[in-house]
Amino acid sequence: MDLLYANDTPGTHPDSYYAATATHAIAHPRLDADINCDVCVIGAGYTGLSAALHCAEQGLDVVVIEAHRIGWGASGRNGGQLGSGQRQDQDALERMLGLQTARQLWDLAEEAKRLVHVLIDRHAIDCNYRPGIMYLDHRQRFVGASRAYAEKLRDEYGYANVRYMDLEDVRSLVASHGYFGGTLDTGAGHLHPLNYALGLAKAAAGAGARIFENTRAVKVDPGATIRVQTEHANIRAQFALLACNGYVGDLNAAVSARVMPINNFIIATEPLDTELAQSLIGNDAAVADSRNVVNYFRLSRDNRLLFGGGENYGYKFPADIKSFVRKPMLRVYPQLEKVRIDYGWGGTLGITVNRMPDLARLAPNLLSASGYSGHGVGVATLCGRLAAEAIGGTAARFDLMASVPNPRFPGGSALRTPLLALAMLYYSLMDMI
Ligand SMILES: Cc1cc2nc3c(=O)[nH]c(=O)nc-3n(C[C@H](O)[C@H](O)[C@H](O)COP(=O)(O)OP(=O)(O)OC[C@H]3O[C@@H](n4cnc5c(N)ncnc54)[C@H](O)[C@@H]3O)c2cc1C
Repeated sequence: MDLLYANDTPGTHPDSYYAATATHAIAHPRLDADINCDVCVIGAGYTGLSAALHCAEQGLDVVVIEAHRIGWGASGRNGGQLGSGQRQDQDALERMLGLQTARQLWDLAEEAKRLVHVLIDRHAIDCNYRPGIMYLDHRQRFVGASRAYAEKLRDEYGYANVRYMDLEDVRSLVASHGYFGGTLDTGAGHLHPLNYALGLAKAAAGAGARIFENTRAVKVDPGATIRVQTEHANIRAQFALLACNGYVGDLNAAVSARVMPINNFIIATEPLDTELAQSLIGNDAAVADSRNVVNYFRLSRDNRLLFGGGENYGYKFPADIKSFVRKPMLRVYPQLEKVRIDYGWGGTLGITVNRMPDLARLAPNLLSASGYSGHGVGVATLCGRLAAEAIGGTAARFDLMASVPNPRFPGGSALRTPLLALAMLYYSLMDMI
């Protein structure tokens, strides 16, 4: 099934809270005539837009093509959480890659957060950034590990922005009986994801990148000059970047063997009165919980609860996303029983076997960056910049990320979805124990 067309109206953002509150959305034309450029970027999410901006700032002639609209993919639909570190925690990275590489990856992730702030400031991107993410434990037995991890980050990584929260702390900020402790990271935060993507696009266009929407790459022919075929015209480029994430599909078999699409869903309640909203989350931080099938939530600028949860592992979104996500929301906040749900939408993200990004040099002049496994707001922005650095001739940091091994999913494209469904069923059962 072609995920670019499986669930949404082509050429239109989904009916999300984000689309309803989008600012600086500029329509870009479809590519109808052959063109040449230095760099062709395929996909206008954070990866592609950041790469385009940073390439254009180097004076390169950049073309971005997007099958639908700017931020139409995960970048315009996500939970908006700008988290610290990589998707894997430092303990896992140290075990997987050794201390030195784990530290380098931590530093890169810190740079990713800084980069997002710099871009927001420099390009005056109105995306309502607010500090703070609480990571909350839904089991008492997880609380000790949360405390130890906050101490590890402080003592071994010099990261002082995260602190342990005990039960009393949590209950004073979050009116739910579902959590027993956790951590608060004030160096992390949350933002309006689509407006951030639209702001990046405006910045890239301002730096000279040419952006084409409703322009799907159907084939990439490698060579000294790469030819990117779209439905209506061809692009000849010295370099190309695949920034297609969970939607890469048949465009590149090597990438899609390592980056698997999964769907995730968010709802937005009606605007809540201030007292109720502040009882749900008293410090305006975002929340992510300790479940394998994570619940994540935060307040919007207009006091809605934006609640993400529930995954499905077929390719189709559930018919009624609002009811699908309302269930986990009511398990956390039963007091919202009578609250209306105004929006419900789904998104497709790219995950990898080891939950680390998949950066690859598919040919000397053909790069790919994707597979952020649900942790891409900062890291995808950074990886776009690393791709731009590599295209500009400085590949060390791109190569460091690319050196993190990412095996292929077992089962090939026919079997991997049923296998993943089984694995995820197992993990969602574990959440209940
Ligand atoms: C529901 C949800 C919640 C999430 N929550 C968070 C969160 O809170 N924090 C966090 O850090 N991360 C989160 N993520 C992950 C994050 O959104 C992604 O990691 C990030 O947006 C990836 O950016 P990207 O540019 O690589 O991919 P995308 O934003 O998916 O962009 C890829 C683009 O490529 C285009 N494309 C694909 N194929 C072609 C083609 N052949 N031709 C032309 N265009 C093509 C697509 O249309 C799409 O617009 C979430 C994801 C989802 C879906």
